[in-house]
Amino acid sequence: MSAPTLAIVILGSGSLATARRIQQGYPQALIYGLAGRVEGADRVYQEFGATLRQLYQQDTPIIALCAAGIVIRTLAPLLLEKGAEPAVLAVAEDGSAVVPLLGGLSGVNDLARGIAAALEVAPAITTSGELRFGTCLLNPPGGYTLGDVELGKRFVSDLLAGEAVRIEGAAPWLDAAPLLRDEQARLAIHVGHAERSPTADELLIYPRNVLVALTAAGEGLAASVRVGLHEAGIAAQSLACLVAADHLMASSLLRDAARELGVPLRFMTHAGSALELAQGAVAAQALHSAGDLAIAVAARPLEPAHIGRPRGRLAVVGLGPGAAELMVPAVKAELARANDVLGYETYVRMAGPFRDDQVLHCTDNREEMQRARHAFELAAQGRSVVVVSSGDPGVFAMAAAVLEALHESTDPLWHSVDLDILPGVSASLATAAQAGAPLGHDFCVLSLSDNLKPWAIIEKRLDLAAEADLALAFYNPISRSRPWQLGRALEIVRTHRTGATPVVLGRDIGRPGQTLRVTTLGDLTPEQVDMRTMVLIGSSTTCTFPRAEGGEWVYTPRWYGVKH
Ligand code: SAH
Repeated sequence: MSAPTLAIVILGSGSLATARRIQQGYPQALIYGLAGRVEGADRVYQEFGATLRQLYQQDTPIIALCAAGIVIRTLAPLLLEKGAEPAVLAVAEDGSAVVPLLGGLSGVNDLARGIAAALEVAPAITTSGELRFGTCLLNPPGGYTLGDVELGKRFVSDLLAGEAVRIEGAAPWLDAAPLLRDEQARLAIHVGHAERSPTADELLIYPRNVLVALTAAGEGLAASVRVGLHEAGIAAQSLACLVAADHLMASSLLRDAARELGVPLRFMTHAGSALELAQGAVAAQALHSAGDLAIAVAARPLEPAHIGRPRGRLAVVGLGPGAAELMVPAVKAELARANDVLGYETYVRMAGPFRDDQVLHCTDNREEMQRARHAFELAAQGRSVVVVSSGDPGVFAMAAAVLEALHESTDPLWHSVDLDILPGVSASLATAAQAGAPLGHDFCVLSLSDNLKPWAIIEKRLDLAAEADLALAFYNPISRSRPWQLGRALEIVRTHRTGATPVVLGRDIGRPGQTLRVTTLGDLTPEQVDMRTMVLIGSSTTCTFPRAEGGEWVYTPRWYGVKH
């Protein structure tokens, strides 16, 4: 799963206020806090060096709130490796200094200026080209892209040596740059979307002002887009996005083509031709069309985020039992990218903290189907939606309700949503791990709630599972509206198991005030259990022995019947 778009790494709580001020300006950024030192970070890490190196290798821009020297020493072993380099900055803990360190071509100086503006200090820019020209010529603003970095570096050093330059095309961001301009100059900065062969005398900058509209998707789509652009004399670098008709939303060929071309994919409701789709998407200066593909060229760079809408996403995630360390990284990343978060209020709160731009939809625990349908309605609008469950979403939780809602729906937009189920650590597994390995052999998971199934079925399953000598995990063991069921369940189990059978009771596991209790089937009473408790009942082979630190280990051996 994807790394965040920006990581703010802090070593102590003293930096949290500064980190939050930076995050205000960059809401997509995640704050990484050192385990045991920082409370309230978005992510917890154990080891500073390993974390920083991993982020760097994942090409994630890094804002480290610590001494520049620490960052340099930490990343030094990686600096000789080739490949893309993310922006890396050191920011003083109190926000008084912003030092861009690495990633000149990844916009580190722009980032430094943005952070410095948020912190109301001056950034420590040291890049000579930037200081001289007031901008990095090799890092044009959003909406433009540089043709070739290596040729560009030579070009800039020629300029720094004092050569004059002429500008062809529109480069409004250079208007105020103190460049030595001369219409007769050998060197030219050329801005335009036409296909052009690179030369050492030209710095080619492409506006991203071209859109390709598609009404069908087949094999080799990226190649046909390239051919279409070439035939129209348009540089592929100027492609800003692909726009497709809604009915192609779930097409993997289209998705692969967009990835291959490195552009976003947007969708529009349209039944007509590709040409009409292109016209609808943008006020075009020029249009080229061939069958299922149409090209529109706009007067200015395009903002794909404002064209049509993206394919919506719906992720049903498991938060684990509660503790942040037990939440899988894919779920954390999903929560970070969410526009909307739906769930029972307790779990939504557990999934936080959230940013101001994220919309929370808290509902009652019992409104599962309604919540599932609401999630699809939001995702079908192109939003990124997360439905949260505690533990695992597939274990007596939202995943099945979401799939049932989809199964019942005939809305093609619902079926086009990018649906993903992300697992979590279920309460039975979290409880078992704390006790040892009571579920180390075959086991059976049951919900004792008769809200959604007849009690007779529960009795039958209990009886057969207990007879089959499976270890048992009871979810929803008891509640105020279901007071007698657990007692009856234990009676059934006792007809097949001895009173000495080990029992584990885990309450609020992974949450504040958690308790773990090891008892026996003979001593177990319903009063010891509430709806926040997980009940694990051993099989005939489950055994216990004392732990050095007090209490007992519980495990069910791997073998059964014959010990090898
Ligand atoms: N999807 C959840 C289960 C939801 S059913 C999961 O996979 O864990 C709710 C029941 O799960 C509760 O009644 C309780 O029996 C159990 N449970 C959930 N979280 C728990 C926790 N942190 N500690 C102990 N039991 C828990």
